[in-house]
Amino acid sequence: DPRIAGIRPERLTALATREAKRFAASRPKTRAALAAGSQHFLDGVPMHWMKDWPMPFPMLVAEAKGAALTDLDGYGIDDFCLGDTGSMFGHSPAPVAKAIRKQARHGLTYMLPTEAALAAADLLTQRFGAFQWQIATTATDANRFALRVARAVTGRPKVLVFNGCYHGTVDDTMVALHDGQTVARPGLVGQISDLSQTATCVEFNDLTAVEAALASGEIAAILTEPVMTNSCMVLPDPGFHAGLRDLATRNGAVLIIDETHTISSGLGGYTAVHGLVPDMFVVGKCVAGGMPTAVWGMTADLARRFAAYDAQRPAGHSGMGTTLSANPMQFACLRATLAEVMTAKAYARMEKGAARLAKGLSRVIAAHQAPWHVVRVGARVEFICAPGPLRNGAEAAAAHQPQVEAALHTALLNRGCLIAPFHNMMLISPATRTRQIDRLIAAFDEILTELFA
Ligand code: PMP
Repeated sequence: DPRIAGIRPERLTALATREAKRFAASRPKTRAALAAGSQHFLDGVPMHWMKDWPMPFPMLVAEAKGAALTDLDGYGIDDFCLGDTGSMFGHSPAPVAKAIRKQARHGLTYMLPTEAALAAADLLTQRFGAFQWQIATTATDANRFALRVARAVTGRPKVLVFNGCYHGTVDDTMVALHDGQTVARPGLVGQISDLSQTATCVEFNDLTAVEAALASGEIAAILTEPVMTNSCMVLPDPGFHAGLRDLATRNGAVLIIDETHTISSGLGGYTAVHGLVPDMFVVGKCVAGGMPTAVWGMTADLARRFAAYDAQRPAGHSGMGTTLSANPMQFACLRATLAEVMTAKAYARMEKGAARLAKGLSRVIAAHQAPWHVVRVGARVEFICAPGPLRNGAEAAAAHQPQVEAALHTALLNRGCLIAPFHNMMLISPATRTRQIDRLIAAFDEILTELFA
C-alpha cells in the first residue's frame, strides 16, 4: 500500500504543492522584507530551526495579542503554537505586560535579588511544592544545572533518559536507543564526546529496562517528562511514575521531573495534578509569561546533601549560572505570572477549550476514517497521523509523518490557524476563544475532506 498515513500520495502532493504556492503568493510584503533584510543572518534566519517551519519562507509577525497573531501581510492568525508553550497563557498577559512596564523604569539586570524575587520564591513553593529554588533563563540550563547537582551528590556519571525525549539542548540527553544501545543522535553539530559515557537511554514505560539500567550503579539521575511530549505524545502507563519513584529511591538515583511542557496539565503541572514525588522539579518557557525564565528546585533532603557536597568542594566556578539569570525583570514577570496569570481559573478555561478541540478533531478523524488519533494533556492537544495509543519513543518516531504534517501545517496556516512546527501540537490559552477553536476544527475537516474523500 503506497498510502502515507492513509493518504494517497498524489493527493498529498497536490495539497502540499497548492498550499505552498498559496502561502507564497499571498505574502508579497513578507517576501519583499525577507529579500531586503534576511541576508545578514546565517542562512537567512536568526535561529537555524526557523528554516524548519514547513512554509516556503518564514512568516514575519507584526503583532501578537491574546491567542492571535497578525503577520506582516495583515493576516489575522489564530495562534495554537503559542511559542511552543512560552506563551501558553496568551501573548503579553496584562499583568505581565504591566510588570514589565513598571520594572523597565528600575533597571533590567544587576546581579542582586529584589523584593519581587522573595515574593516569587514564595509563590513557586505555593504553586509547585516545597522545593529549594534556583532561577535560570532557559529550561535547557535548568536541566543542565539539575544534572550537575545530581552527579555531585551521587558521585555517579550517567543520566537515564527515555528514547525520543527532549529536554532542551543538554548535550547529555541528545541520545537515542539504537539496537538496544545508547548512541548519540544523528545530526548533532560538532559532537565530539562519546555521549554513551554520560547517558543511558531506555524506552518510556519500560520499568524493567529502567531497573536494569539502575542496577549498573552508574545512574545519577532519571530525567523525564511526565508525558513524552516532544515526539508524538506518549502517555505514561498506569503505575509507571510510581515505579520510577520507587526504583530511583531503591537505587539512590535522583528523580528529575521536567514539567516544561506538561505544565499544560493543570495548576502545579502534572506533578501536582497526578501526585508525583520528584527530587528535583524543572519548569521553563511560560513560567514568567514569556519572559525568558526557567526555575529548578530540589527537595530539602537533596538540598542538605548538596550543601554537604558544596562544603567540601574546592574553590572555583560551579559550572552553573549565567550572568543575566535571576534578573529583576524575570522576577517581576515570574511574580506576576504566578500570582495573576497561572491561576486555577485560567486552567479551567484552557481545559474546557482543549477538551472541545480534542473532541472536535477526534470527530473529524473518525468521520474520515483516518487511521489517526488525538491525545490531550490538559491544555495541550495533539493529533497524530497514525493509530494509537503510542507506548514509547520508538513507536512515536514511527508514527511521525513529516511529509503529511508539513502539508497539513501549511494548509492550516492558509486557513488562519498556526500550530506548533515539528509535531502536531496545539495549545489552548485562557485567551483562546471558542470561535478560534471551531475555526481550527473546520479547517482540519476541510483539509481531511480533500485528503481522504
Ligand atoms: N524541556 C522540555 C520538556 C522541553 O520541551 C523543552 C523545549 N521544547 C526544553 C526542556 C528546553 O526549553 P528551552 O528551549 O527553553 O531551553
